[in-house]
Amino acid sequence: MKTLSPDRPILVVGAGIAGLTVALALAGRGFSVHLFEQARKLEEVGAGLQLSPNATRILDRLGVIERLRAVSVQPEAIVLRRARSLREIARVPLGAAAAARWGAPYFTVHRADLQSALLSRVEREPSIRLSTGAAVRDAAYHARGVTLSIDQAGSIIEAAGDLVIAADGVWSTMRGTEDDKRGAFSGLTAWRATLHRGEPAEGQGPVLSGSVVTAFLHRRFHVVAYPIRSGQAVNLVAVTRGEALRRAWSVAAPRHELEAALAGAPALSR
Ligand SMILES: Cc1cc2nc3c(=O)[nH]c(=O)nc-3n(C[C@H](O)[C@H](O)[C@H](O)COP(=O)(O)OP(=O)(O)OC[C@H]3O[C@@H](n4cnc5c(N)ncnc54)[C@H](O)[C@@H]3O)c2cc1C
Repeated sequence: MKTLSPDRPILVVGAGIAGLTVALALAGRGFSVHLFEQARKLEEVGAGLQLSPNATRILDRLGVIERLRAVSVQPEAIVLRRARSLREIARVPLGAAAAARWGAPYFTVHRADLQSALLSRVEREPSIRLSTGAAVRDAAYHARGVTLSIDQAGSIIEAAGDLVIAADGVWSTMRGTEDDKRGAFSGLTAWRATLHRGEPAEGQGPVLSGSVVTAFLHRRFHVVAYPIRSGQAVNLVAVTRGEALRRAWSVAAPRHELEAALAGAPALSR
């Protein structure tokens, strides 16, 4: 059986949620890791994420949970409502009930808060080296392992390892270096908005009140709302049929397009 050589790190491509998490998990098992991230700086981008107990249990093991607890929300319940009438259909208790049932909490959190909690733990881990502004362009697999070609400020450098882990997200370059198929557009668009507590907004009753995850269901779309940032903001996501957009995590959209996509639920589109 092949063993990993102690003088060569495991290479991880992408310092998003998966890359930072796998780096911490490997470091916890005694491996050294070199993490490559194309962004020069891990900035405040993205919006809300829901972390169910299977995820928070791992984050606890990695020593990240306390920092995360301070900036996330433990919602009391998931509530399903009809999008047209806003009538409640079902309610699943979370909060203390989730922690007791699954042995770990259910959190809602801003993606940037999760990433910075993971990053601050990575920065304290001597066996992890993080190179930012390092875009992996290619990977050559050979008998001795793998060599990555990395674009750093316009110069191509190489890094060798026994193993590479591709954590470079939905538009993965690494996936294209294997025979694997590239990701294809699903036909669904996610519309995101963040409401800040205290901002005037019409029709905010069922959305902003209480500490719950609410899913508004319609046969053509669904809308999910939940608190983030210690309850100081509410994350809204509408998932509708749509056209493929350019590959970016934030593309501004005119309000009337969202209203048209949510036709059939006038109370919601307000
Ligand atoms: C900027 C951003 C905003 C997001 N916002 C949301 C959101 O609001 N809500 C939501 O549900 N999900 C969001 N996501 C997606 C969500 O984070 C991921 O789908 C999920 O967390 C899985 O994590 P991941 O680590 O696999 O991928 P990602 O979190 O997408 O991370 C991939 C990382 O790899 C880096 N990378 C990509 N290609 C290369 C390369 N060739 N070389 C080096 N580094 C590379 C990227 O810069 C990124 O940091 C966002 C992702 C990003 C990158």
